[in-house]
Amino acid sequence: MAIWAAKVLTIFPEAFPGPLGVSLAGRARAAGIWSLEVTDIRDFAKDKHRSVDDAPFGGGPGMVMRADVLAAAFDALRAEEPSLPGLALSPAGALLTQATAARLAGGPGLILVCGRYEGLDQRFLEAREVEEISVGDYVLSGGEPAAIAVLDACVRLLPGVVGQAASLAEESFEEGLLEYPHYTRPEVWEGRAVPERLLSGHHERIAAWRRGEAERITREKRPDLWERYLARQKKIGARP
Ligand code: SAM
Repeated sequence: MAIWAAKVLTIFPEAFPGPLGVSLAGRARAAGIWSLEVTDIRDFAKDKHRSVDDAPFGGGPGMVMRADVLAAAFDALRAEEPSLPGLALSPAGALLTQATAARLAGGPGLILVCGRYEGLDQRFLEAREVEEISVGDYVLSGGEPAAIAVLDACVRLLPGVVGQAASLAEESFEEGLLEYPHYTRPEVWEGRAVPERLLSGHHERIAAWRRGEAERITREKRPDLWERYLARQKKIGARP
């Protein structure tokens, strides 16, 4: 099977692999399940100062990453692996979801473009048909932490990365619900006992309790997810 290839464009290559070098992602990379290649966008600058940015047309604060420099770097990576889709980290992108991570993990890999300053020249995004992804409704200083989040979410879905496939299937968002709460030893801690149902050893009762908790937590914490879940349940006839 072809290795899932992550190619990252950044002006801070030293930010990688970061957390992707440890635990599941680090071991999976060492095992050859996925690869990581990090390229410094400055290597494609056209001047001796290795500039990647310039002032925005129309004025305003900050600098913008140049389309010509970005495209030169992007095209060099695309030439190595033409099938890789391009993805730019941006607060203006679609929010990263588990479904998006699953879609991306199901492909050959990704070329990830990390923005800095005020962001990327719009013409680069359009000309190279780069999909924009956001990791949340807040502004980071750069795309690097967002790229690490996207890669972590994708890599753990690659076959062979997470030991028990069942643990992936039960996770938050897989069914549109947040996950039920977890407990481990000691059985009583600071006067708080583990829910009695979990000690019963009765698998069906435990599964029913967990389902109920997942629904309650989703309803209370994420009414937006709950509404979507209810609508889906009604559609498939699981609820009146
Ligand atoms: N001027 C931009 C705006 O107001 O939307 C913010 C630019 S931000 C300081 C610099 C870079 O950080 C962006 O180009 C993007 O690559 C990255 N970034 C910031 N917030 C992000 C988010 N929520 N999701 C993904 N990437 C983000």
